Amino acid sequence: MSNMMAALEKSRPEPGLWRVEAPVPEIGPDDVLIRINKTGICGTDIHIWNWDDWAAHTVPVPMITGHEFAGEIVELGRHVTGLTIGQRCSGEGHLIGHESRQSRAGKFHLDPGTRGIGVNEQGAFAEYLRLPAFNVVPLPDAIDDEIGAILDPLGNAVHTALSFDLIGEDVLITGAGPIGIMAAAVARHVGARHVVITDINPDRLALATRVANCVPVNVAEEQLEDVIARLGMKQGFDVGLEMSGNQAALDQMVEALVMGGRIALLGIPPGKSPVDWLRIVFKAITIKGVYGREIFETWYKMIAMLENGLDVRPVITHRFPVSDFREGFEAMLSGRSGKVVLDWTGSSD
Ligand code: ZN
Repeated sequence: MSNMMAALEKSRPEPGLWRVEAPVPEIGPDDVLIRINKTGICGTDIHIWNWDDWAAHTVPVPMITGHEFAGEIVELGRHVTGLTIGQRCSGEGHLIGHESRQSRAGKFHLDPGTRGIGVNEQGAFAEYLRLPAFNVVPLPDAIDDEIGAILDPLGNAVHTALSFDLIGEDVLITGAGPIGIMAAAVARHVGARHVVITDINPDRLALATRVANCVPVNVAEEQLEDVIARLGMKQGFDVGLEMSGNQAALDQMVEALVMGGRIALLGIPPGKSPVDWLRIVFKAITIKGVYGREIFETWYKMIAMLENGLDVRPVITHRFPVSDFREGFEAMLSGRSGKVVLDWTGSSD
């Protein structure tokens, strides 16, 4: 192995990413080195590409970006046990500390000192990634590299969807981005009755119906109260999964929920936004904020469901060799894509 590798880097504080030659990371005693086969482009990577306010305040340059990946282990730190060279894997991109109360209680996803690969630490858009062995998630044969590369966002969808009991429930999902769409598939898989997904982008609503057996609603054209009547629901939705970060979507969700309804919030609002707390209090609504994936319970459930027939592959709409990464980002920036996966296996040819 040469000690240099190809990588996609935020090299300068301006829009774009650049293909660079970077040193292959050196691993510590508790780390593994992973050869990357496929990566997914995340909304987070788009923020970094665009170099918006969040990115400019969060991401130091230079930084190899990317955190959605699948690959195989090529080197083990000397303390690492239970993993093998050649093992196919994905992994949790949140690097946690072990000192906080939450971590010591085993609630690793609630560690306040979490650092993200591709955001605060060198990331996965590279031929090689260093990762703590703790973060590695081995992949069974049933999960190929392409699906392995989108387990991070699927994990967001699973974490959000499994926040509340969905068996026999009517579920409203606001926001038909890839995570909202995958959450619809998960909700159906675990036994929800009606799953309605809203957006104002017809391409995304059409994609939602190709991935999940769900009811698409363009809220620019149709009212949710009409949908509730059309589906023969008595009062409204039992559970809401907010995936858009859009103020109007949250208001619509609160209106469309039953008394005592439950909401899981994954969508990130652009800033402070007014909330009609009076409605939320008088409807006795429970709200849960969702961050990342439960480490590692979400991973366990997600892999079990994929082995058990959950199929989200149609959410991947674009595939490019990494040499064409600009086209991949353009597809994402168009707002018309589902997941975009980059293939690194030919990158050194
Ligand atoms: Zn992501």
